[in-house]
Amino acid sequence: ERASQEAERGQPAITLDGASIEVAANVNRPDQVAFALAQGGEGVGLMRTEFLFLESGDTPSEDEQAAIYLAMAEALDGRSLIVRALDIGGDKQVPHLDLPVEENPFLGVRGARLLLRRPDLLDPQLRALYRAAQQGGALSIMFPMITSLEELVELRARCEAIRAELDAPHVPIGIMIEVPAAAVQAHVLAEHADFFSIGTNDLTQYVLAMDRQNPELAAQAQSLHPAVLRMIAMTIEGAKAHGRWVGVCGGIAGDPFGAALLAGLGVRELSMTPRDIPAVKARIRQSRIEDLQALAREALAARDVAAVRALDKGGIGQDR
Ligand code: PEP
Ligand code: MG
Repeated sequence: ERASQEAERGQPAITLDGASIEVAANVNRPDQVAFALAQGGEGVGLMRTEFLFLESGDTPSEDEQAAIYLAMAEALDGRSLIVRALDIGGDKQVPHLDLPVEENPFLGVRGARLLLRRPDLLDPQLRALYRAAQQGGALSIMFPMITSLEELVELRARCEAIRAELDAPHVPIGIMIEVPAAAVQAHVLAEHADFFSIGTNDLTQYVLAMDRQNPELAAQAQSLHPAVLRMIAMTIEGAKAHGRWVGVCGGIAGDPFGAALLAGLGVRELSMTPRDIPAVKARIRQSRIEDLQALAREALAARDVAAVRALDKGGIGQDR
């Protein structure tokens, strides 16, 4: 089975009945792109830029950031690149920024909330992104931890001001759906976002009220919980109302059964750690979208995680 996955990883993830799913990689650095492409990645669905801040132990300048975003785009040679604006806070603490200590960092000033309070971080990053786009980098910008429409509207306005100032091209602007409020209000947010990418790691943590890092809860903090799946279905429904596409870049996208289920729910793009790509592609390629849709309906009606998992018959026409 492994050998056939290896041989097929260069093939597109198209189901037996012709439904096409984009399979992308979660990659943070230009030097990781070659491996992602060799695994069969069709683009980068999530570049986590906070790693530029974490790894260097310093705040990268606008010039340094522009060079990195352009290098990513160039390594991808026209394939899609979604760059996520800084997602700092929660599990991603950056010591050199000296941010105030919070009692509940996961419920605090993280992601978009921090970006809106810190133009000294947001503006250079946006300028660097638009400069890279101006030099030919085909990229999209994505904002993390959006909770309310006003955050999205304000961040979009910031993007547009900077784009206009630089006379740079327009780029798609999307958001992460990883807070339950955003999933519930997806139909509202979709009017102002070009695409959604569901962050199932955080969405699961916030829907189930379980710290994603607490080993004691790891067995229960499952993205396959029917409550999480219903949030995903709601997100897709809201996006469809405005013709937006939905991807998933959380861990469940890299699990072959999770990926099959997500495709059945209507997810169009799956972004994952590169080594997970061959098995996910193989699973999609041996499925029928009609079967995956039936699987998704059964999963949404399931009473618990165990009942969802019991629907996994292991592929080859078995996904129902
Ligand atoms: C997520 O929350 O699912 C996600 C992809 O983002 P991160 O893991 O970086 O929080
Ligand atoms: Mg997240």
